[in-house]
Amino acid sequence: MSAVNENLIRDVGAEVLGRLGGTATATAKPASAPAPAPKADCGSSVKKSLANPALRGKFGVFATADEACEAAQEAFLQLQQKGIAARRKIEEIVKTLAERNAEPWGRIEFEETKIGSLPHKIAKLGLIKLVPGVDWLRPDAMSGDHGITLEEYTPFGVVGAITPSTHSIPTLSGNIVNICAAGNAVVFNAHPSAAKCAATAVRAYNEAIYRETGIENIACIIEKPTLDSFNALCKNELIRLLLVTGGPAVVKAAMQSGKRAICAGPGNPPVFVDDTCCPTRAAKAIISGAAFDNNLLCIGEKQVFVLDHVADKLMQRMAENGAVKLNSAQLERLTKAAFTFKEGQGGGCAHASLNKDYIGKDADILAQAAGLNVPGGTQLLFAETDANHPFVQEEQMMPMLPIVRVKSVEEGIALSLQSEHNYKHTAIIHSHDVENITAMARALDTTLFVKNGPSPAGLGLGGEGYLSFSIATPTGEGITNPRTFTRVRRCVMVDNLRIY
Ligand code: NAD
Repeated sequence: MSAVNENLIRDVGAEVLGRLGGTATATAKPASAPAPAPKADCGSSVKKSLANPALRGKFGVFATADEACEAAQEAFLQLQQKGIAARRKIEEIVKTLAERNAEPWGRIEFEETKIGSLPHKIAKLGLIKLVPGVDWLRPDAMSGDHGITLEEYTPFGVVGAITPSTHSIPTLSGNIVNICAAGNAVVFNAHPSAAKCAATAVRAYNEAIYRETGIENIACIIEKPTLDSFNALCKNELIRLLLVTGGPAVVKAAMQSGKRAICAGPGNPPVFVDDTCCPTRAAKAIISGAAFDNNLLCIGEKQVFVLDHVADKLMQRMAENGAVKLNSAQLERLTKAAFTFKEGQGGGCAHASLNKDYIGKDADILAQAAGLNVPGGTQLLFAETDANHPFVQEEQMMPMLPIVRVKSVEEGIALSLQSEHNYKHTAIIHSHDVENITAMARALDTTLFVKNGPSPAGLGLGGEGYLSFSIATPTGEGITNPRTFTRVRRCVMVDNLRIY
């Protein structure tokens, strides 16, 4: 073998070795050199074997999408080597740290984004333990005269994930649990107005994961996210799959990227209240769902349609339970503050768009804009509106709930359907009539449909089920879980291993 060929083989071998984390030492050496036995992997060998020194010591926080993807790919290969035990450790670390740091991380997210409610920001981080992890993945087996077949849920590699401003650290944390439980690594492009807190959490997770497993960059983040870094992430060949959590623009951008995209898109959840439900229970549920984190949740109650003859009772119960009703003049003042109206393109209709200054703000701030002082601690405002009001039609993300009277169940369901805008996200009904419940479920065809409870019950918070902060609506995967981030692979043993 010529010296050139021998050197080439050695260099290529070293490159491959670096990528694989050192297990293939023997094959990387030229045939003439005796191969040392591979070292037992106790964590320290991982550090030596990693390829690019520029990726060391960053603990997941990178300046560019390309660096982050390279680091995540390396971490994915390490995780592959270290197996299920390392996945379990990552899950445990993320869940433990999210809960332990709920107070300081909730606070830094609140201070950075200035939206939502501090106690609810803290509460959301305490819920990450409810996100399903490694145990969610069970292979499917088939057994018969021709042997046995196993279908396993296997990783893709590196997932690119986009997170919203409305729950930055909670979404990121739940995504890491799901994505890494399935054996993948992840690179985040956070919302620019919630990126510093996200990077703080990513660094803390990686430091702990590195200490416990030797894997340094299993969850990476672009420190200063921009539209350019989003595009670079989408273009990077190492990204096998996208997960986007956000509004219509990012869903559209992800779907046009050419990558497979799992999209947790926008919602505008309607509530329908009929005359068979318990109005007190309905009022309490509506308040607790719509007021949670100042109505930032995509699943949160955004508009209520109620049968005319029970509307007064429902509103009375809402007032008795702490919500404050605006009169029509107050509603008009708040509407002028909370929306801007641009002339429609060609149609002549003024189109309402949200004034970001009021998104996720406390009810007392909205009340001031309405010209009203409300008692401290007021969680929710409400007002009677018509069905075309901007508070009904827009995903307003404010603790101000429009209440619309309807004459019949059919009208209530039809207006609920129209106001949901075909997002197929979430709808809620308060009813004890199974025919009404069934009719609404069929008509709205939403991913989540909650009966007789607050919207968070749909995510296992007071209802049965598991939690995720990414609910894949337009692409249909539903409430994301580890299986969402897997490839199904089939292994077939012909004519053997069936043992009876
Ligand atoms: P947003 O759409 O403004 O931003 C979400 C993310 O997308 C951010 O990281 C942002 O930087 C990015 N982004 C926005 N436009 C983009 C574009 N054109 N190209 C590339 N990236 C882009 O949303 P937000 O205000 O942060 O969050 C609220 C929205 O997210 C609401 O519509 C809500 O319903 C939705 N949401 C959905 C879920 C779900 O599980 N389905 C969960 C949370 C929030």
